[in-house]
Amino acid sequence: MEEKLSIVIEEYLQEIYLLQSGEHPVKSNHLADRVNSAPSTVHATLSRMQRDNLVQVDQKKQISLTEKGNEIVKDLILRHNLAENFLCHTLGIPWYEVHKHAHQLEHAMTPLVVEKLAEFLEHPEACPHGVPAGGYEDSYLSQSFSLDQGETGLLIKILMIDEYLEKSEELLQYLHEKSITPGSQHTIKENQQATHSITLESEQGLVTLPFDIAKKIKVKRVE
Ligand SMILES: [Zn+2]
Ligand SMILES: [Zn+2]
Repeated sequence: MEEKLSIVIEEYLQEIYLLQSGEHPVKSNHLADRVNSAPSTVHATLSRMQRDNLVQVDQKKQISLTEKGNEIVKDLILRHNLAENFLCHTLGIPWYEVHKHAHQLEHAMTPLVVEKLAEFLEHPEACPHGVPAGGYEDSYLSQSFSLDQGETGLLIKILMIDEYLEKSEELLQYLHEKSITPGSQHTIKENQQATHSITLESEQGLVTLPFDIAKKIKVKRVE
């Protein structure tokens, strides 16, 4: 039987996957920030992951997942998705709080539990934040663009608040208060390149977000 991956390695795999979907190549210092560890610890863990054929590190020190690493991540994304849906829709925990609990649960679910939970929840296509159960490549997001790309005057619908932002419960709660939730509609009041921010208007009023956050929110145009 294959040795069970440690929770730490599962977490690294997920963070590399999230960073890979961003606009910059993944380096170990980004990873250290995300997992809150010293560079030496990250280095040691990455070496172990390279040995186990989970990641590749090229000559420019850019990190990417191997096919094996990617397969494991896809399974983790599914488990995380199911756990969040269960916590939110079955147990009634608010969408902006479920991430940290799901993050614990996802490591403890056996394949049978995953299968039964998926059946029980009727195979949800996305988590409560709109992240597709099959990962970012899902067709669910094919019509979308990131919020910072939205032009002034456009009416948009929020599709996904990236897993990348879910670590900050404070931020998610703020977005919730401002009605920036998956499925909600907003008009882009102003896309301000000079200050790198975007102002949205909905029935709840105006809210301005920095591009750093807007880049991690996927939206689609409402016709
Ligand atoms: Zn999450
Ligand atoms: Zn989520």
